Amino acid sequence: MIVLEQVNKWYGDYHALVDVTGQVAKNEVVVVCGPSGSGKSTLIRTLNRLEEIDGGRIAIDGRDIHARGLDVNALRAGIGFVFQSFNLFPHLTALENCMLATVNLKRATKPEAKAYALELLDGVGLAHKANAWPHELSGGQQQRVAIARALAMRPPIMLFDEPTSALDPEMVGEVLQVMRRLATGGMTMVCVTHEMGFARDVADRVWFMAEGRILEQGTPEAFFTNPRHPRAQQFLADRS
Ligand code: ATP
Ligand code: MG
Repeated sequence: MIVLEQVNKWYGDYHALVDVTGQVAKNEVVVVCGPSGSGKSTLIRTLNRLEEIDGGRIAIDGRDIHARGLDVNALRAGIGFVFQSFNLFPHLTALENCMLATVNLKRATKPEAKAYALELLDGVGLAHKANAWPHELSGGQQQRVAIARALAMRPPIMLFDEPTSALDPEMVGEVLQVMRRLATGGMTMVCVTHEMGFARDVADRVWFMAEGRILEQGTPEAFFTNPRHPRAQQFLADRS
């Protein structure tokens, strides 16, 4: 369970997160949407401490993750993060990309890491590309490897920040399909995405952000059929 209470974040004079309060239950999928610059990336990055906060509290399973002295590497090992740009290590094969963290952090022996990496690549439909180099893969394939890599540490939480927005349109579906399957399997997920079809079908809750605030939180049904805030109404109107 992720709990945000009155989270505030400043970049210099700019108030990037304003009193953000919300909860993500175990096994829940939250989709974060909102206009560009509304603070979506900032928010999701506070959850694994890629951004520090200036006020409020974020707790995961009851532990304050911004507490002084917290082991940030241990925190990040338990949270998979997938970005817009896939950032695979170019000098490692798909398989090696998926083994690296587990082996380096001594979470598994090499054969164990390899077996699990192959299983994960199979799970994203890429067992046949295990020995390919990143440059030999399409954008959609690279992003699926990036998801498999993020899963290798068996994180109970996955964060996605616009994982499909750098992809050619014909590759968006295959990545969303992998995310859908993760969601169905009970993964706790926070996804920043503009894919409203995904939000409608997969999200348990939608958070709509504007100007650093969550202006609306609700089920996809409530959000899409009856958005209350004028900014949310405008956002959806622009997209239909
Ligand atoms: P997008 O949809 O374009 O990705 P976003 O909702 O993810 O937008 P953020 O990247 O969280 O928005 O940025 C929120 C605001 O904070 C923006 O006005 C941005 O310019 C500002 N901002 C983000 N990162 C920094 C930074 N490192 N220093 C200063 N300002 C920043
Ligand atoms: Mg962003």
